[in-house]
Amino acid sequence: MMMRFNLANDASVYDVSPLFTATPFDQWNLTHLVKSELLNHRPITMRAGGTSLGGQSIGSGVVIDVSKHLTNILDYRPEDKEVDVEPGVIQDDLNNYVKADGLRFAPDTSTSNRAMIGGMIGNNSCGSYSVYYGTTREHVKSVDVILADGSETTFEPLTAKVLHDKLNLQTFEGSLYRTVFNLLERHGKQILENFPHPSIKRRNTGYALDELYRHHQPFNPLGKPFNLAPLICGSEGTLAVIKQATLNLVELPKHRQLICGHFESVEAALKIVPSLLEFNPASIELIDKATLDGAKANRQQQQNRFWIEGDPQAVLVIELFDESAEVLQTRLQAHQAWLLGHQAYSAPIIDTKDSAKVWEVRKAGLGMLMGKVTRKKAVAVIEDAAVPVHSMFDYYQDVQALMAELQVNCVYYGHASVGLIHIRPEIDLATAEGKRLFQTIAERNSKLVKNTAVLCQVNMVMAEFARRL
Ligand SMILES: Cc1cc2nc3c(=O)[nH]c(=O)nc-3n(C[C@H](O)[C@H](O)[C@H](O)COP(=O)(O)OP(=O)(O)OC[C@H]3O[C@@H](n4cnc5c(N)ncnc54)[C@H](O)[C@@H]3O)c2cc1C
Repeated sequence: MMMRFNLANDASVYDVSPLFTATPFDQWNLTHLVKSELLNHRPITMRAGGTSLGGQSIGSGVVIDVSKHLTNILDYRPEDKEVDVEPGVIQDDLNNYVKADGLRFAPDTSTSNRAMIGGMIGNNSCGSYSVYYGTTREHVKSVDVILADGSETTFEPLTAKVLHDKLNLQTFEGSLYRTVFNLLERHGKQILENFPHPSIKRRNTGYALDELYRHHQPFNPLGKPFNLAPLICGSEGTLAVIKQATLNLVELPKHRQLICGHFESVEAALKIVPSLLEFNPASIELIDKATLDGAKANRQQQQNRFWIEGDPQAVLVIELFDESAEVLQTRLQAHQAWLLGHQAYSAPIIDTKDSAKVWEVRKAGLGMLMGKVTRKKAVAVIEDAAVPVHSMFDYYQDVQALMAELQVNCVYYGHASVGLIHIRPEIDLATAEGKRLFQTIAERNSKLVKNTAVLCQVNMVMAEFARRL
């Protein structure tokens, strides 16, 4: 079905009017639509929940919205921990569906009540638990797709024989397999040398050629069977249109609990994150003072702030999962003692019935900061920049110096466990000066991220060199 209404925005600051938007009724209709738009040489942008932060789900051609009708859970095999879904299935809906069997789809974004599987695969979404579960890529078994010539196929784990057959197909699909295979065969080593270090879990988007070379046969003879599905994860709708996907599910943690380390500075909090990882946390989230204070203005949230002691400049919210309630308590006590010995001035263990209140405070605080009724707003410009977790402290200091130089206030929060801090500078985008500032920050920050990663690689090589001496 074609419509002339506008899906010109997502959760980014951009605004691009599409030529048309279309909401296909089913997979057949989607295929037909994609084929006819390809024949018309119209660029296609796929859209699921539209919660992307970088303008990935908006475009000036045809925007195809799968959120209305491609919302079916097609087949569920709890015994295999597998489910087949269409791209418009919402994360929370899927998780509610499989919950009775003690299962869930592991990646868990803050937008889980509206973000959809197609978009999660497009962005290779992660969420708060990526240090524990990894990214969407690790939980997608196969994808049924429409390719750029309108043909359809399934990307799934292949035996050596089937891969050989695919490489010899005289079709568009065959040429895709040959292109990727030859690229990896000829340039695999350079790809590994030049891609971000694998310790950076949150290098979400882009074509994961390094993953294929590092973890898949025949390049890694002991690796997983060759599969192009990991390449679709993170490709942001640029390689193929997803009609349906088979996902792996994980078991729900039997016991889980939060502990909140309070710190006098963000620096003190960030410095200890690498050591905290040795305790195998399920997540470590940073909340800064601005966010904590944001919730103060909200009457309802004042009661939810009961767990905050004193006036912390930063809090690390650490969540632990465990199979045993007793072991979990022992681990929490050990965490508490360790945190208090490492610059935390307080580290309350949160009663499980109150966990939601901790997240409510963060949500409300961020909501206040993002929704300020001033011309300057905390905008998404440096979203999801990730650095090696050991370098997060240096990176944070560099960003602070940049913001001081540009005289910009900034909000910091995020997934500290994986070296990812959301950094939201306050900018007035209605002015030419604000737009210039936006661009300067984006460019200067991307250099900082790259330098931090390069420096970290150099340090790791030096450390290895020293170890061998
Ligand atoms: C407040 C906030 C918090 C967030 N927190 C997180 C977080 O914790 N972790 C995280 O990873 N992300 C986060 N995000 C980003 C975003 O919410 C997630 O990446 C989300 O999973 C995107 O899903 P969506 O359905 O909205 O996708 P969309 O924005 O609609 O699309 C995402 C990409 O997928 C492509 N796509 C969609 N459908 C298809 C299809 N059928 N075929 C091919 N390509 C397709 C789109 O073209 C686009 O490139 C956050 C965003 C906001 C606004």
